[in-house]
Amino acid sequence: MTTTRILVVEDEVIVARTITSQLSQLGYTVIGTASSGKVAIAKALETRPELVLMDIILKGEMDGIDTASYIREYLDIPVIFLTAYGDDHTLQRAKITQPFGYIVKPFTSKDLRIAIEIGILKHRLERDIRENRDKLATLLNSISDAVIATDDQGLITFMNPAAEALTGWNRQDAIGEDVAKIFSLIDEVTEAKIENPVRKVLREQQVVYLDEFTSLITKEGKRIPIGDSASPIMRPPDKINGVVIVFWDISERRKTELLEQALRKEREVNYLKSLFISTVSHEFRNPLSVIQTAVELIELQGENLTESRKDIYLKRIKTAVQSMKNLMEDVLFMGRAEAKRLVCNPQKLDLRKFCQELVEEFTSVITSGHEVIFTCASKLTEAYADEQLLNYMLVNLLSNAVKYSPHNEAIRLDLICDQEKNIAIFEIQDEGIGIPEADQKRLFESFYRASNTQSIEGTGLGLVIVKRCVEAHQGTISFSSQEGQGTTFTITLPLEGSNE
Ligand code: ATP
Ligand code: MG
Repeated sequence: MTTTRILVVEDEVIVARTITSQLSQLGYTVIGTASSGKVAIAKALETRPELVLMDIILKGEMDGIDTASYIREYLDIPVIFLTAYGDDHTLQRAKITQPFGYIVKPFTSKDLRIAIEIGILKHRLERDIRENRDKLATLLNSISDAVIATDDQGLITFMNPAAEALTGWNRQDAIGEDVAKIFSLIDEVTEAKIENPVRKVLREQQVVYLDEFTSLITKEGKRIPIGDSASPIMRPPDKINGVVIVFWDISERRKTELLEQALRKEREVNYLKSLFISTVSHEFRNPLSVIQTAVELIELQGENLTESRKDIYLKRIKTAVQSMKNLMEDVLFMGRAEAKRLVCNPQKLDLRKFCQELVEEFTSVITSGHEVIFTCASKLTEAYADEQLLNYMLVNLLSNAVKYSPHNEAIRLDLICDQEKNIAIFEIQDEGIGIPEADQKRLFESFYRASNTQSIEGTGLGLVIVKRCVEAHQGTISFSSQEGQGTTFTITLPLEGSNE
């Protein structure tokens, strides 16, 4: 173990000798003695001791205090004063040099040892702290994230160059200012000022993150989208001592996000377009080939064509034409709805009468033989609605109920007119195949068909159009369904019709 190397500065030779021998007995190495300030500095420069024991009163131009202050400042060597006087003036002067200890003469070896060990430890700790502070400062000055620190009142105590660049404020002007002045935030969507995260941290005493779409307003009034976090600086026990905000410019990221979003949307639209074209052309090809085959058969059989055969072929042609017409209508409807030209013309209607007639006509057209039971317990059933759109909604939902109830289970249409709530509720209920849970949330997407409909024909456009018709009335549509049990669709419309 190496012993501490000490320089003794003492102008009284006998005292110097005594101290030197005391130190040697204690196991320290005295690398020299000096009797004046100048000699002390020269020896310190030459031998680089780890500690200087310095008499305050020295003969010559420089007394102990001047010498100590030089050694401390330029050589970074800890100094312990030896003094015979405890007078205030001397102590005040000595304090300025921030000594590492005092020993008042006369002292024992024990006093000397304690003063030296504490002095060396203090110096080492001070150097560690200084090194850490320098490291931290270099780190904070060189990182690209902006950092601002405040005290427990929200007044700025630190700001790194990145924070200066982003806020437009320079460090000298910002330090001591309220953080809200330098770090002012706005919500890009609502344009409202946002509570300063420092205030929030001081109140809640925990880390706070910024919401999305937050912008910093710079000194020049420019807006910069930023991401940030603010953390409390805690001092034990549980006392908040200040706040650190770390923030960064996300303009580039935001631009990329917007671009990606636009690209995604375009891709989606393109995909839907091609899906639309391929589905519609496929749906047209079937009835067209039915017509073509029927016409060819008629031509082929010429005069041999019997009346009953002719009827069969004509019926096939008619059905095919009808299905093409239906599809055409759906497509036109979709086009209008997409272009937001689905006009709602509400007229006064007796909903009970309307539904009764609709069900009668519907059951007379369908060939499947399903029974449709209409019920309505409400007394007053007058309302304003668009007859054509309402017809479209109910016929579509009833057709689905029929189509997806392959065993001819009965179908119910129930009407409730709630005068108090000012709404009409239509419920279309079936006991058919139901909708698998996994498909339920995508049901109102164009061309989406549930996984249990493979053997049942359909385009997946009906519900989309129904929803548009409901929305044109400012109404809502929902459903509940259980696979294998059945489905209930519920439409709610305002009695007075849409205001648009
Ligand atoms: P189309 O465009 O010819 O009406 P589609 O009936 O397949 O074809 P939608 O009416 O939009 O299309 O219905 C979408 C999907 O919702 C259907 O494919 C089916 O999977 C499911 N669905 C709708 N109504 C019912 C119902 N009552 N019972 C079971 N499934 C249903
Ligand atoms: Mg349908």
